[in-house]
Amino acid sequence: MEPQEIIQENIQRFGIEKWSEGYFNVNDDGEVVVHCGGQTLPLVQVIDAARQMGLSTPLIIRFPFFIGEQIKKFYRAFEHARKEFNYQGEHKAVFPIKVNQNRHVIERLLHYGQDFSYGLEAGSKAELFAVLISDTPDDALITCNGFKDRDFLDLAVVGKQLGKDICVIIEGVEELEGLIEIYRRAETIPSIGFRIKLSARGSGKWEKSSGEGAKFGLTSTEILLAIDLLRKHDLLGKVNLLHFHIGSQITNVRTMKRAIREAGVLFAEIAKLGLNIQYMNIGGGIGVDYSGSKSSTVASAEYSIEEFANDVVFTMEEMCQKHGLRRPGIVTESGRVIAAYHAVVVTDLVEIMGAEYDLSHYQPTSNLVKPVVELKYVLDYMNEKNYIEYYHDALEFKEDLRTMFTLGLCSLVDKSNGEILFQEIVEKTIEIALRRGENFERDPFLRKFLAEKYLCNFSVFNSIPDSWAIRQLFPIMPLKHLEKPCDNFGVITDITCDSDGTIGAYQSFDEATDSEYLPLHHEMDDYPVGIFLTGAYQEVLANKHNLLGQMNEISVDFDEEGKLEIVSSEQGDTVKDVLNDMRYDDAFINNQAKKCFQGLNNPKLFRRFRSYLNSYTYMTKDPHE
Ligand SMILES: *Cc1c(COP(=O)(O)O)cnc(C)c1O
Repeated sequence: MEPQEIIQENIQRFGIEKWSEGYFNVNDDGEVVVHCGGQTLPLVQVIDAARQMGLSTPLIIRFPFFIGEQIKKFYRAFEHARKEFNYQGEHKAVFPIKVNQNRHVIERLLHYGQDFSYGLEAGSKAELFAVLISDTPDDALITCNGFKDRDFLDLAVVGKQLGKDICVIIEGVEELEGLIEIYRRAETIPSIGFRIKLSARGSGKWEKSSGEGAKFGLTSTEILLAIDLLRKHDLLGKVNLLHFHIGSQITNVRTMKRAIREAGVLFAEIAKLGLNIQYMNIGGGIGVDYSGSKSSTVASAEYSIEEFANDVVFTMEEMCQKHGLRRPGIVTESGRVIAAYHAVVVTDLVEIMGAEYDLSHYQPTSNLVKPVVELKYVLDYMNEKNYIEYYHDALEFKEDLRTMFTLGLCSLVDKSNGEILFQEIVEKTIEIALRRGENFERDPFLRKFLAEKYLCNFSVFNSIPDSWAIRQLFPIMPLKHLEKPCDNFGVITDITCDSDGTIGAYQSFDEATDSEYLPLHHEMDDYPVGIFLTGAYQEVLANKHNLLGQMNEISVDFDEEGKLEIVSSEQGDTVKDVLNDMRYDDAFINNQAKKCFQGLNNPKLFRRFRSYLNSYTYMTKDPHE
């Protein structure tokens, strides 16, 4: 096959055109490129430049302009839908910063969102503090969700005093009592929203966020109590928003329509009680199609942003007509779909585990044990006619060998020989199957034996914690060599000492389901692998299992001349940083280190030892000394 055909095949295989929203693709040299404003830049070039700056893999590469692209797409979709259905209410959006609180991310996001008066949502005191010191436009909305103590509420009141358009969304009557108490002192109060509990549930992994048993929201009784309380203090006019959030990664937009219809009934009832509510806040939840399958499976989303906006606006219009309501403004809080695309984690292959099974390591001995003799026979006499039968025989001989070894009836050399022969048999089986036109890619049985562990320099727990915690799928692919056919199957494994530190699900375009293996290349020295769509949630959920810490970071953006360039970088954690996190403060480290070296009188060794406090927590190709 021509290299261009192979590249096309690999594009299909990794589904890059299906999940990348056009932001990433493969160039004619078989390298993954980022694609923006008519320019392309191979990711391997970014990785090389980063290495020259002393920032090795694993590495987060950020492309902040994709946040801008998503924001534009998002606002345009609602703008278009409002025109289409002649919806008279406005559309306002806030970005929930729990999705990614990184200062640089928020700064860029506010920059791109400025023209739209894009606001922010906070779910805790620290988040609200970060939100209040951010440069949000004056007319941008700020919403406060989550459970609030007096300090959180007071911080919101301070925000109001700073002139922000801030809405405290009440989760319970007690919060309201707290807010009223602060109001009595401060003589000012932010606007108030009610988070309502719907019986309609979301769809997908986060559907528990909604429904009657949900953790959040006011029940009907609580709404009535809240209204009474507000009336008593003459504050009914402060309530201007109803809010619900049916969960993240909504796989099917029908559930959103159902929620809006249900919220509409409540909206109409509350209006009857004399409240003038101006906004319906439908929460977030627009899904990201991680698997690229455009389906209602958990790692996917069946709809586009445009379809989502159309369905929301249409249903709002329909609901208002039904209940004879003035059209409320629509507030949205989607975060995942805005931030996911902008970050890529780059790791590199350390080794293919098990690749040491090679006939050259076979050690002939004078008296071979029976299973080894049998395996050798199978290997020598396997042919097109008998290969399936012989292969099954080999499985048994391998098992016999294992039993013998456990019973102490054969040596380590015998075991090694047997395993080498077995691997050769597997490879021969596959070779024959292929020659006969059998498709081993589609045969899970053959594939299982072909799959090798690709040990990569990263931590699943730090780069893609959702892969470990909830088996979320992220698109993964090699960043170069795509002009060569994938001749292997692998499972990506990380460098943590944890058997969970391995990736169990991959995008697949050969079959309907996700795959347990990733097509890869055999034995490549320089084999960078990209994990895509990691910009939402992964960074803050990251943990430091095994004290593998924050990764190095590079930000690629347009420079003054409009050329795609590395514009900033940030060093990842050092050994000292992660120790500090675990309360080994500097003084303690110094004292203990000194104590260890006391009486040794070897200042050089002491310096060498101490210098490791500055090394990257991951594996490095360029040793530190
Ligand atoms: C998490 C959350 C969001 C954001 O959800 P996404 O799936 O990221 O869009 C919005 N609103 C509330 C209340 C949330 O808790």
